[in-house]
Amino acid sequence: MLRPFARFRAHMPTRPRYLCSRCGARWPCAPARLRLLTRYRDDPAGLLLHLGAYFYAALVDQPRTPPADLTRQMFGWVPDEIMHPDP
Ligand SMILES: [Zn+2]
Repeated sequence: MLRPFARFRAHMPTRPRYLCSRCGARWPCAPARLRLLTRYRDDPAGLLLHLGAYFYAALVDQPRTPPADLTRQMFGWVPDEIMHPDP
């Protein structure tokens, strides 16, 4: 039997592989991306800092994974207007 509100459980990363705790996709999965974009809608720098913290932790947790792969996983989905804002 599902616990109350279990279906509303957030899509959070699990360490050390950074897979989603709910759907098993690489984190951030699509629902997590949507939640992050909504949460940081008015704070794009905050989104990058938030992802940067997970990126750093992933580098430590996965020392054999090429950093470029982790960069793609954590930041590859971020819209260009956030990654490269107009000056
Ligand atoms: Zn998920």
